[in-house]
Amino acid sequence: MADVPLQPQAPPLPKAKAAPARSAPQQALLKLGLARDIDLALHLPLRWEDETRLVPIATLREGEVAQVQASVRHCQVDERRRRQLVVRVDDGSAELQLRFLHFYATQLKSYAPGVLLRIRGELRFGLFGREMVHPSVKVVQPDTPLPQRLTPVYPASSQLPQAYLRKAVGSALQRAPLGELLPAGLLPPGLPPLREALQLLHQPPPGSDAEALQQRNHPAWQRLKFDELLAQQLAQAEAQRVRAALRAPPLAGAEGGHTLGTRLLQALPFALTAAQQRVVAEIRADLARSQPMHRLLQGDVGSGKTVVAALAAATTIDAGWQCALMAPTEILAEQHFRKLVGWLEPLGLTVAWLTGSRKGRARSKMLALIESGEAPLVVGTHAVIQDDVRFARLALAVVDEQHRFGVVQRLALRAKLGQASGPIDGTSLEPHLLMMSATPIPRTLAMAYFADLDVSTLDELPPGRTPIATRVFADSKRDAVIERIRDEVAAGRQVYWVCPLVEESEHVDLQNATATHAQLSAALPGVRVGLLHGRMPAAEKAAVMQLFSQGEMKLLVATTVIEVGVDVPNASLMVVEHAERFGLAQLHQLRGRVGRGAAASVCVLLYTAPLSPTGKDRLRAMAETNDGFEIARRDLAIRGPGEFLGARQSGDALLRFADLQEDDALLEAARELAPRLWAEAPQAARQQIDRFLGGRAEFLKA
Ligand code: ADP
Ligand code: MG
Repeated sequence: MADVPLQPQAPPLPKAKAAPARSAPQQALLKLGLARDIDLALHLPLRWEDETRLVPIATLREGEVAQVQASVRHCQVDERRRRQLVVRVDDGSAELQLRFLHFYATQLKSYAPGVLLRIRGELRFGLFGREMVHPSVKVVQPDTPLPQRLTPVYPASSQLPQAYLRKAVGSALQRAPLGELLPAGLLPPGLPPLREALQLLHQPPPGSDAEALQQRNHPAWQRLKFDELLAQQLAQAEAQRVRAALRAPPLAGAEGGHTLGTRLLQALPFALTAAQQRVVAEIRADLARSQPMHRLLQGDVGSGKTVVAALAAATTIDAGWQCALMAPTEILAEQHFRKLVGWLEPLGLTVAWLTGSRKGRARSKMLALIESGEAPLVVGTHAVIQDDVRFARLALAVVDEQHRFGVVQRLALRAKLGQASGPIDGTSLEPHLLMMSATPIPRTLAMAYFADLDVSTLDELPPGRTPIATRVFADSKRDAVIERIRDEVAAGRQVYWVCPLVEESEHVDLQNATATHAQLSAALPGVRVGLLHGRMPAAEKAAVMQLFSQGEMKLLVATTVIEVGVDVPNASLMVVEHAERFGLAQLHQLRGRVGRGAAASVCVLLYTAPLSPTGKDRLRAMAETNDGFEIARRDLAIRGPGEFLGARQSGDALLRFADLQEDDALLEAARELAPRLWAEAPQAARQQIDRFLGGRAEFLKA
């Protein structure tokens, strides 16, 4: 894609003082974000190893991980196949063979016959009976005591040995301020004090069950999860309060037949659906207020969000203010808003287009139109809110395809918006913000991350759509699929062929798409086949799109640049190659490109075998439902919320302990408690946020 999404503004790094040089493990700690004692105290074990018990070798089952203690019978380097150290030991119950493919000469010496070893590893039955490959081994005396507690195993890194981390966590746990912040009676019943919970998880008492700890439903875990969710809800409540104090221009007043809004409705070739009418009313009510709107409009692909955006723009312009419409990339901005502009321009509106590729004189001209206020509508990519763009009176920003941005980008966007509107009439006014997304946010996710967001939903499609049938085939059926294309084209209809997305490499994408284009052109003589990919110059893309829209081009081979915004009602078949590589939401978006006309439409998902069980589940979900909400729900279940939110881009998972799927009861409790805590103990609320979120609290305000 040509446009780079907004990068968050990184806070300036503190100037380096003449601090003592840090050791490699210390630096590694910082890299993991473990700066404060409390951070270390909250760095919880991934798992626990039970080294408190010894198990007789004879009782071990295949695949069991256990600790045994046995004397060396024999130790030698085996040179026959791969050079390896082979040690035979015996604990009186049975013999066991240890094999080391990497070893030091000192091991050979210290594992002398008669020496007692404490060995921990996984038992296998090999060619020579019981064996363990690369167990951990310690030379011991018969009276060397066993540890009393389970041994924690932490998320570590190559620079950060477990032993170092264990020590660091242990001493941080002593120092960290872990006093109870919640007034007595406010904590849900059954949860232990935080200090106790952490002590237990880091240093499980003798006799603890490693399995139960692993399951993460132990009360100690519950306490941590609750505290984390509470911190997050507190941070959001604060963000909400901050927003309530902001001011925006109220956009209302203009009424009657001469307004842009009324004329637009009259000019539309269709009537609004009931859902569209409801949503437009919700948005207008928000715009009439003097607090900035912060609303998400979610609606399935094809539910008609664009016209809602156009009506919101009209309300803004009728009130005498400017509106900016943004899409994540240039091609999307073109395709998305061309229709909208096509509705509004004939009504006498000056529209400014701002995209990354518009440079020089053309750009200066647009900037002047925006700065003078001559252009009440500005359309483009996020280039629209770059530093050198000055709006005369920006009052509404609409961001389309919001789901393609991560939380961090959303935050940066809001910061930029604040700057773009600038001080007006001596007061600092914020523009209203409308975000649109075809990927609905599941309820738990909305509660956890978007508490600061009002949501409108288009839950109805415009009339006259034919449902899309989705079929899943192995790539070996490719020839049959090509036959189907021939039939479709012969019947006068058009076809999309979507090539896989190879992450990291646009170059490989291009090669694949080009090869597929050649292959399909050869297989379908007489059919005009076009190619569209992200690297093409904008003008060339537009030319290809135009040929396809006009029906001159029958088959369009494309990378995912067509994901959103393309509207060709005559297209009735879509083939997605390597469908297993796409996200469900993305497939759903793609599929929405067909089924826009009266003809029955089909989406073929081709996959390359073998498919993982999850991969099968995902494609099955696509075939089973056309409902974007249901798909989003399943996507969340399969992938987890991190990826869903684009947290992968931000490199920071937002919840470390709680799981939104499982912990909704705790989430409800935290949601209830947050406002009370702010009211009754604001100091504690602030400390709770700092304790759990530290510098990460910023993410949650987005
Ligand atoms: P999306 O919500 O995916 O952005 P669009 O706004 O692109 O959907 O709308 C999809 C198509 O439906 C467009 O061609 C649009 O003009 C048309 N459309 C929108 N609203 C209606 C309606 N109420 N009746 C009929 N067609 C509509
Ligand atoms: Mg759209």
